[in-house]
Amino acid sequence: MEKKEILRKIPSVDKILARFANREELQIYGLSRLTEATRETLKNFRAEINDESIGSAPTTDEVAKRAIALIEGQNQNSFKPIVNLTGTILHTNLGRATLPDVVANQLSQIASGNNNLEYELESGSRGDRDTHVEKILMELTGAEAATIVNNNAAAVLLCLNTFASKKEVCVSRGELVEIGGSFRIPDVMEKSGSVLREVGTTNRTHLEDYAAAVHEQTGLIMKTHTSNYVIKGFTHEASHSELANLAKSTGIPLFADLGSGTLLDLEKFGLDHETTVQELIAAGTDLVSFSGDKLLGGPQAGIIVGRRALIAQLKKNPLKRALRVDKLTISALSGVLNLYRHPETLRESLPTLRFLTKKPDEILEMAQAILPDLLKKIEPEFEAKIVETKSQIGSGALPLDQLDSFALCIESADKSDKALREIARRFRTLQVPIIGRITGGRLLFDLRTLELPSSFLDPIAELKTV
Ligand SMILES: *Cc1c(COP(=O)(O)O)cnc(C)c1O
Repeated sequence: MEKKEILRKIPSVDKILARFANREELQIYGLSRLTEATRETLKNFRAEINDESIGSAPTTDEVAKRAIALIEGQNQNSFKPIVNLTGTILHTNLGRATLPDVVANQLSQIASGNNNLEYELESGSRGDRDTHVEKILMELTGAEAATIVNNNAAAVLLCLNTFASKKEVCVSRGELVEIGGSFRIPDVMEKSGSVLREVGTTNRTHLEDYAAAVHEQTGLIMKTHTSNYVIKGFTHEASHSELANLAKSTGIPLFADLGSGTLLDLEKFGLDHETTVQELIAAGTDLVSFSGDKLLGGPQAGIIVGRRALIAQLKKNPLKRALRVDKLTISALSGVLNLYRHPETLRESLPTLRFLTKKPDEILEMAQAILPDLLKKIEPEFEAKIVETKSQIGSGALPLDQLDSFALCIESADKSDKALREIARRFRTLQVPIIGRITGGRLLFDLRTLELPSSFLDPIAELKTV
């Protein structure tokens, strides 16, 4: 048949729309959206006929079906929940800490209505959004005051800009870190308007090095948590309490960027010791900043605690207005901090801590519960078994700590790398994507971060292997 002839046989827009009349689709999507999608679909069909990828005119039903598929494709959010089985608990690319259900519920209530974000209910006057979390942060850390910004990078920027703009900041050469995602201490310092004054050497920095570097142009003495690496061997660093004394005698504030920042003695949970915020405050550190969504297990935020007069100065900086958090962050952070008031139940109530402290036996049981159903889905093209693996905490917290865990391990039956990459892609493109990691020709799903077998098995119901 001639192309012209085929093109003439394509059903009209009106004919397609008439087919939608009195149907559910019309109710759901509305006439204007259906008309637009129908026009677009017809245009696509015409192009396919013109380039001869199809040789006959589509039926009314075919056009209608494709138009609906087009709308449904557009309706899909690109941003959606996924299942993180990478073995990294706090994975920056996968949204870091997951919030407890109770906190998520409070969050949705705050999200869908008005609230007293900056409003004093008693007096009916304007309030300060920080107040919703300041008191509990003071209580939990022992600090005199607290303020919140968008993330810890913002917290560092705000502290440097407030106290050391056009001034020097003393930092040990061993602490000039780069955290993933282009956060480098020297670069942030430059953007804050302060000047880096390097102190000591890479492996050894003494109190005297700081004392010699401090002069009237010094705005801050800064300590940075090296987060994603450790320096081992012939090393020395000045302690926070030594530096706090120097700060006190010189009148220059000591600021610590603690990075991940925990409020818990992690040793009590069988992990290595990680300096807590309370310890730094007790040692006399004037300002401490840390992230909300790393070990704390809350939403993305930068928390700064410390001396009242200094926090007041931070709040007055116009940058604070630009870096302030929204109502959803305040809601989530206050919900998570409230859980810390009941430390005995925190292991159950806080997902991050639950994942960190999960016993290998528990993870193995989960793997055994899932394996038979997984095999049914992927055999014979692929093989699966349970293997031992190591999880990591992620986000620069205890970088050397490896946690014993178990993973579901998938291999292609013909040992083909291409097939393995393809099945990994199929897991990633499920309605609820499941993300694992490929290592040594195997696809691993570390089950440390899986809460229920159904969170794995429900999504893979639609998995296709061939
Ligand atoms: C993670 C980290 C930051 C950045 O914190 P964000 O909350 O990701 O902005 C800054 N400093 C240190 C030492 C860190 O570990």
